[in-house]
Amino acid sequence: MRKRVFGSIFLTALVTLIVTVSLLLVAVHSGLTQDLQERLSNECNYIAAATASGDEQELQRIGSVYADRITLVDADGTVLYDNERDAVEMENHASRPEIAEALEKGVGEFSRLSDTLAEQTYYYAIRLADGTVLRVSSTADSAFGALSTASPWIVLIVLLALLVAALLASWLTHVFLEPIVTLDLHEPLKNDAYDELSPLLHRMDKQNHKIASQLGELKRRQAEFDDITARMDEGLVLFSAQGDILFANRAVRALFPKDSATGGYMTLCRDAEYIRVVEEALGGESAHGRMEKDGRVYSLTASSVAGEGQGHAAVLFVVDITEREQAERQRQEFTANVSHELKTPLTSIMGFAEIMENGIVRPEDIGRFAGKIRSEAMRLLTLIEDIIRLSRLDEGAPVPFEPVELSALCGTVRDRLTHKAAENKITLHVKGTPVTVSGQRRTLEQMIFNLADNAIAYNKTHGSVTLETGEENDAPFVRVSDTGIGIAPADQPRVFERFYRVDKSHSKQTGGTGLGLSIVKHGAALHHAQIDLHSTLGEGTEITLRFPKAE
Ligand code: ADP
Repeated sequence: MRKRVFGSIFLTALVTLIVTVSLLLVAVHSGLTQDLQERLSNECNYIAAATASGDEQELQRIGSVYADRITLVDADGTVLYDNERDAVEMENHASRPEIAEALEKGVGEFSRLSDTLAEQTYYYAIRLADGTVLRVSSTADSAFGALSTASPWIVLIVLLALLVAALLASWLTHVFLEPIVTLDLHEPLKNDAYDELSPLLHRMDKQNHKIASQLGELKRRQAEFDDITARMDEGLVLFSAQGDILFANRAVRALFPKDSATGGYMTLCRDAEYIRVVEEALGGESAHGRMEKDGRVYSLTASSVAGEGQGHAAVLFVVDITEREQAERQRQEFTANVSHELKTPLTSIMGFAEIMENGIVRPEDIGRFAGKIRSEAMRLLTLIEDIIRLSRLDEGAPVPFEPVELSALCGTVRDRLTHKAAENKITLHVKGTPVTVSGQRRTLEQMIFNLADNAIAYNKTHGSVTLETGEENDAPFVRVSDTGIGIAPADQPRVFERFYRVDKSHSKQTGGTGLGLSIVKHGAALHHAQIDLHSTLGEGTEITLRFPKAE
């Protein structure tokens, strides 16, 4: 714009200068010509008056001192006298315009350019009383001649004019454009620019306000969207119709920390199932899939979003279902195990009952067989009780918490197990200081009972079991230690799994269900307690439940 404005002003200034100078030259030239013509007519009249009496000598005298040319022509055009040339040698002048005009009208004038255009000759002629014509002429530089003589000056003047035009154009451009260039477009109404710009600036101000309010609304919506998607546990990815990742929420970046969540969909993950699901959605079909990655399992749900004639965008939900699948697998395993565990004693019961029914058993053996049926039924009952306890813990039955003193609880457990301990020739000790925790009394008693029961069951003859309570670092604890067979390091992490037994036959022999430590684990989770297991094969086991510090 600056260049165009400068160019226009420069051209205008230049044309104005050239036109002005040209007109001035023409005016000066025509003024000079007029002066010369007046001078020649005066002189011609004066010479005519001086030679009116036909005094040829007077004419020659004037001609010899006169600076301009004097010619006397006869009425037939024959040159009678010329003060610069020999009249005899000169051709007939009847056809000369100024002579012809003077012969006809009494006065004639004419001007003629030289062949080179550099000079111009002016003629003035009057018809004398005797019919002859007196002509006076003078030669001066023509306008072209004058121009060529002054050409260095003219070049200088043109250059000067160019310079002046350039300076003028530059200054005017600056003056015109400065208020426009320095416009504050953020606050258009504060500008002190041309009045003509006022409607534009008002419009701009309105637009600015509109844009600012729309931008604010957009930002608010974006913040809302970001906030919601950032709180989502599910991964959310939006793909453009071209398959580029437009958005990926925090959960996605947490799920795939090693992968880039920008660029094409392939940059996020290269799993075949992921690619299939995304490509199907981009192709217009919603799709589901399951993907395993870095030891975790993800469910993928991609929905297709119809675009405006340029393919389909897609929305992908990624949900970490590792725990859900694990829980489902555990539930299925548990159901299978329960069926199996229930079936074993029932099969025994059925067998003994059948033998007795068929009368195969001798009367003296009936008591022994009934005892076996009873003990198998007892096992069944214990198992069912354990399953019920475990499912109650699983469901998180809303039993209220109450202050429970653990030392007294250990005394109760000892009393319940005194008989069993005596049978196994085990000594039972309760020691430590009384300590109170907040919890479910029955669950806590069951947990300590299960630990102490195992400590007796997996002990050696004449071994001992100690139940200890107290506080360590202000945190309440209960510890059950025995001098039994111990648990191998490989089995230690697994003994808390449902139905896991190190030695199945030993467990069954001691009436174990394989659920005792599972119940302890669930009970501990319910009470936010931590379980520490220390065991040495052949030496004994020590299991400590550490409860949270009292508030
Ligand atoms: P069970 O009913 O078989 O005792 P638990 O869940 O109580 O089931 O225990 C799981 C397994 O852990 C037991 O079968 C046993 O092999 C082992 N175990 C538990 N407590 C002890 C212990 N104090 N000493 C040695 N082994 C133990």
